Amino acid sequence: MLTKEKLINKLKSPELYLYGLLFGCLGAITNIYLTFDLYGQLTLHLGQSFVLFCLLSRGFSCALIAAAITNGSLWYLTDNPYFFLTLNLELLFLGLMLRKKFWLLSADIIYWLLIGLPITYTILLFANLPADFNIMILSKQLLNGVMYTIIAIALNYFAPQVTTSSLPDRKREPLSKIIFRLSVVTIVLPSLIIALSLTQKSVSQFERTTVDKLFNHATELETIIEQYIVRHQVAIDALASTLNYQLSTDEQQKLLNNYLALYPGFISMLIANSQAEVTHGAPNSFYQNYLKLPKNEHLVTDREYFKYPKETLTPYISKVFQGRGFGSDMIIGISSPIIINDEFQGIAEGSLNLPKFGEFEYELLGDNPNEFILILDSNKKVIYQSMPEKEMVDGFFEALTQERAPNAKPFEIVIDGKKYLYQVTENERGWQLFVFQSSDVITTLITDNFYVVLLSLFTIIVLFLFLARTVSERLTTPLVQFIEQFSQLDKGMKVNLPADSPAEFAFLTKKINHAHNLQRNYQQHLASEVEEKTKQLQHLNFELELKARTDGLTGLLNRNSFDELAENSFQLSQREKLPCAIAMLDIDHFKKVNDLYGHLTGDTCIITLAEKLKAHFKRNTDLIARFGGEEFIVFVKGDEQQINEKFESYRKLIEKEIFTHEETLFQITVSIGVCHLSPNATIKLVEAVNLADEQLYHSKANGRNQLTGQKIS
Ligand code: GH3
Ligand code: MG
Ligand code: MG
Repeated sequence: MLTKEKLINKLKSPELYLYGLLFGCLGAITNIYLTFDLYGQLTLHLGQSFVLFCLLSRGFSCALIAAAITNGSLWYLTDNPYFFLTLNLELLFLGLMLRKKFWLLSADIIYWLLIGLPITYTILLFANLPADFNIMILSKQLLNGVMYTIIAIALNYFAPQVTTSSLPDRKREPLSKIIFRLSVVTIVLPSLIIALSLTQKSVSQFERTTVDKLFNHATELETIIEQYIVRHQVAIDALASTLNYQLSTDEQQKLLNNYLALYPGFISMLIANSQAEVTHGAPNSFYQNYLKLPKNEHLVTDREYFKYPKETLTPYISKVFQGRGFGSDMIIGISSPIIINDEFQGIAEGSLNLPKFGEFEYELLGDNPNEFILILDSNKKVIYQSMPEKEMVDGFFEALTQERAPNAKPFEIVIDGKKYLYQVTENERGWQLFVFQSSDVITTLITDNFYVVLLSLFTIIVLFLFLARTVSERLTTPLVQFIEQFSQLDKGMKVNLPADSPAEFAFLTKKINHAHNLQRNYQQHLASEVEEKTKQLQHLNFELELKARTDGLTGLLNRNSFDELAENSFQLSQREKLPCAIAMLDIDHFKKVNDLYGHLTGDTCIITLAEKLKAHFKRNTDLIARFGGEEFIVFVKGDEQQINEKFESYRKLIEKEIFTHEETLFQITVSIGVCHLSPNATIKLVEAVNLADEQLYHSKANGRNQLTGQKIS
């Protein structure tokens, strides 16, 4: 459904018709005005390149419109619907092959070999042309197809802006294919043009030399014929003068026979006396036939060959006439007067057999079956012809009278659909001497050239395949190696290229190695910088953490961290079933110290007490914290007695400590409250702290500088 809608949408688009029309007109103009005439009717039509370009750039529907116009023009031009059939079939086939991702050129060669040429051949069979002519047309058709296809591909390469974006994306092609196609297009097209124009040139050159040769043959023929006639006339003259010496009848007959044997060109010879009576004849069979004729026909009185020498006493050569009595060949009569003592005594005559010209033909033309002769007398009657087929003479007369094709060359004649080159000369007797040559030689020449071109094309294409593969390997192999090496590049390593890599790659490698070095150095620098910064950060963090955990003045734990740590230790001792205690310490009358000696001295007191406390409770499990102001809290493991003794000794230590302030000595005391917890105690830490605080309160209330304890079991 979707594709149907798409198609309908496409058909509605004005662009389709616009481009179809444009390409169609370009194709038609090319077909009409830019034809490439190879020889005779053999013309290259290149309009189809626009149809195929349209197919490549605008799609099938558009090309169909272009084809209708372009191929229609060819139909009109050649009056031959054949092109319309094969070229539109070609478009259909190529459209299909393009969908199958074929390359246009290979698809087109496949089309012509499998479909186009067989169709053409079948059509040619009906035209009844000679076989070699058919081959020439077939190879021309293939070359023509290759040529316009390459033009279309080249147009598509070099005019990409016309390409529509709606065409399906072609899959990416490997480099070797791209190189191959580009080189084929750029090299094959010019080579084809060069090869075909060379063919055209050599054909016209050949035509010229052939026509020149034919002319030479015609003039030579004229000379040979003249010599032939003159030689025989001289013979008749000699015979007539020999007869002057009054020979006997037998001698005369013998002489006549001898002459006939010497000059076989004469079909018959005779001697007539002054009364126009034939007295001798040769050969004997001719004379016997002659004698059988009725009496009144024995006399040759009315014959020109008798009358003329009798009246003028000079030799005579007749016009051409058909022999009678003895054979029906075309002959001419040659006669000379027999004069004895200045008196006319009769004539000697010989009938020259003109078909005997055939004997000169070999002398003139050699063994060339393509060349032949036609001799007409002044009345356009055939004197002699050596045409290979009898009917050709009729065809020749027909061709001469017919209106010639407008582009026909003056030395061309078409007999029964076949082309001949000819030359004609006219001799003094008004005879026309034609020498012909059939165009077979030219057809062979062209076909041979086409074969050479096709073979060269094939070789070029194979070479390009090889070249494309080599070039792309030369490019891609180092590139792949290069990238592989680069991706696995370790410290201190360099990318190394194969020795035969192109120069550009060496340059690239140098640059990349340099860039890689820079990058690696930078990375190293960055890593050490990050390491240093991390260390600094860790230190800062540690300090921050420490700050958060400790009290700034004394360096003891602060209340929060004490709560956390004591909770752990408290639970641990509960699990371990070990006794422990929480003690609260508070400096007695500390306000007064501050008041008397100032806050700084007060701080010193607090610091001293804290240090002494640390020195007193040194076990790993002991936790000492500043609880706030001049109060301290201590978690300690051990039984009641041990702990009380330890705090008592501390209390006494402080009691004895002497503090100074500007040379004033003073002492301070601490009150202590302890909450002892037996291994079985179930109370919480907070409660234990509160209980210790209560005990501290009792110490204060009871006069200070003392320890009060309570045991929870
Ligand atoms: P008592 O024997 O009842 O504890 O009497 P006292 O004067 O010590 O009274 P109390 O505990 O109520 O007062 C604590 C005083 O300690 C108040 C404050 O001036 C002082 N103080 C608290 N923290 C600091 C401190 O960090 N440095 C100094 N120099 N004095 C402090
Ligand atoms: Mg206090
Ligand atoms: Mg106090």
